[in-house]
Amino acid sequence: MNVLVLNNGSSSLKFQLIRTDPDLAARDADERLARGVVDRIGGQALLTFQAAGRPARRETTPVRDHRTAVEEVLRWIASETSGVPIGGLREIDAVGHRVVHGGEYFRRSVLVDDEVLRNLEDTLDLAPLHNPHNLRGIYAAREVLGPGVPQAAVFDTAFHHTLPEHAYLYAIPYPLYRRHRVRRYGFHGTSHRYVAYRYRVLTGMPREKVRIVTLHLGNGASACAIAGGNSVDTSMGFTPLEGLVMGTRSGDIDPALVDYIAAKEGLTAADVELILNKQSGLLGISGLTHDMRDLLAEAREHDDRRARLAIDIFCYRARKYIGAYLAALGGADAVVFTGGIGENSPEIREGIVDGLQWFGLELDPESNRQMVG
Ligand code: ADP
Repeated sequence: MNVLVLNNGSSSLKFQLIRTDPDLAARDADERLARGVVDRIGGQALLTFQAAGRPARRETTPVRDHRTAVEEVLRWIASETSGVPIGGLREIDAVGHRVVHGGEYFRRSVLVDDEVLRNLEDTLDLAPLHNPHNLRGIYAAREVLGPGVPQAAVFDTAFHHTLPEHAYLYAIPYPLYRRHRVRRYGFHGTSHRYVAYRYRVLTGMPREKVRIVTLHLGNGASACAIAGGNSVDTSMGFTPLEGLVMGTRSGDIDPALVDYIAAKEGLTAADVELILNKQSGLLGISGLTHDMRDLLAEAREHDDRRARLAIDIFCYRARKYIGAYLAALGGADAVVFTGGIGENSPEIREGIVDGLQWFGLELDPESNRQMVG
């Protein structure tokens, strides 16, 4: 079967078309038929579409909203010139949507029906920056492909539904949790879940025995403590702002800073939150870029002090989380890296685990060097 996977962001739509079935999935032999991005939805959009084995096609065109973006993607997939090896839209058997926040209600992926849509509407105030766009994408795909094509919602939070109370509650007045669902939810769940599964397949270990720390290090970054195959702690919290240092997000800070910075800079709390989300992290410290590859180049080629500092703080925070999760898990068998930085940067992997040999963690320098993007 062919599954169209959609990831609707605030002003972008990313997609992939995957040929899969239970047998292919079990053999890890899913096939990506096409991928692409519609960027800058709401204005003159940049479309980058690519069928497998073909050069990417780029074009700019006005794209009013998410529905128009979905229509553009489908029109391209169905066109004769795209090179996507399917015989028209009839051969799209299902759509999978990435949904950032499932709240406490969604504990696993679900097929979308009217009740699911009602419950999704209920999550909007928990993730006002993400879920409205995810939901818009679901409505758009439903309208364009018709109600006959099944749609699944896959939640970033769902894998973390196994967090125990002592890990997900903040030490603030309990009624705030009851009244407003203020708690830690965790994100990047699909990624942590997938790499824990791959670890299990590669080592031949039964699920109940898997006790590892996973690090998803991309533009967003999070750590996860996994015991018995389940998430038992994770670094992102009520929103994806908590935890590790990220491309433009601060990760952990003293919450009293919000008021202090607001008063000193003549800003509102919302302005400061924006700074913590969009102008902090690697970008904020270096003053140069949020992009780790560029920072590493800058540190290497120009020995830029703040680029080096940003990298050091990034590695140090990640190392502290590994230490915390080793304590939470009572030890672990492995640290697993993923995400653009985790998969591609030997230097960062080494920077993070450097000094963790005391607990038996060893990085094979040769294998580490070989895993380069
Ligand atoms: P997103 O969270 O947006 O999906 P990715 O997982 O693609 O992001 O990760 C993007 C990050 O990965 C960027 O900081 C990028 O510089 C970094 N990255 C990609 N390749 C490399 C590399 N070879 N070395 C270091 N960093 C890399």
